[in-house]
Amino acid sequence: MSFFEVVEPVFSSYVMGNAPVKQIATGFDWTEGPVWFGDANCLLFSDIPNNRIMRWTPDVGTSTYRTPSNYANGHTRDFQGRLISCEHGTRRVTRTEHDGSITVIADRFEGKRLNSPNDVVVKSDGTIWFSDPHYGIKTDYEGFRGEQELPCNVYRVDPANGSFAAVLTDFDCPNGLAFSPDEKRLYVADTGIMFDANAKQHIRAFDVDGNGRLSGGDVFHVIGPGAADGFRLDTDGNIWSSAGDGVHCIDPGGALLGKILVPEMVSNVCFGGRAKHQLYMTATTSVYRIVLNRQGVQKP
Ligand code: MG
Repeated sequence: MSFFEVVEPVFSSYVMGNAPVKQIATGFDWTEGPVWFGDANCLLFSDIPNNRIMRWTPDVGTSTYRTPSNYANGHTRDFQGRLISCEHGTRRVTRTEHDGSITVIADRFEGKRLNSPNDVVVKSDGTIWFSDPHYGIKTDYEGFRGEQELPCNVYRVDPANGSFAAVLTDFDCPNGLAFSPDEKRLYVADTGIMFDANAKQHIRAFDVDGNGRLSGGDVFHVIGPGAADGFRLDTDGNIWSSAGDGVHCIDPGGALLGKILVPEMVSNVCFGGRAKHQLYMTATTSVYRIVLNRQGVQKP
């Protein structure tokens, strides 16, 4: 069997014929939010319906990092290495300090409760950008069913001065998001309204100016099958995105270069390992890993 599907010849140099898609952890219900801690040689990821964040290390395997996790979904790290988390159950974004205490970054916008923050990225200026679709409040599966008080926006928070802005307000359901390596582009997925079979499934690309203002926003790539639930970039600016049949690699021009085929629906990915050359893929009941001939821009 092959672990890859090459669409453009260059993709053959990104993968290695003897590097498997390896299941490294299983037994979960819906894994999401992978984030690599090189300093602890571990991967954290969410098992959302079971209200826990798991930790995987190469020597020990899987253990529980935090439960209850408030139905945490996406995670990243800031430039001080602290864990930034989206929580469905408490409808907020938090930061875990080095001493383990939790700081709330955002839970209300203009006095109204957020929906269910989904995915998050930190820009090198320290600002925190997150998507806030309604998935976590539509059912009791990944949080608590609740009233929607705000549209499904993308927000930017600056913890340094407390500024909090809705920066993208024309999405159905914003989801995965990531900056290009030079931070001059922001990619944001729209994964459509829950329970709508014809929902949008695409990634839009925005230009980011020196002050962090966005412009543009054309559809950059249509994903299928499945959704661009979550993605990360490599150092050449290629996007490695979740999809229904695995992970799709999309070049900065929007062309599909190839696929990593995964036996379960993938929700999100992150790079890790000593050379940031391992791609960790959260996929429904399991987490998979493949070693690539690529390097992720994941920071720190
Ligand atoms: Mg997501």
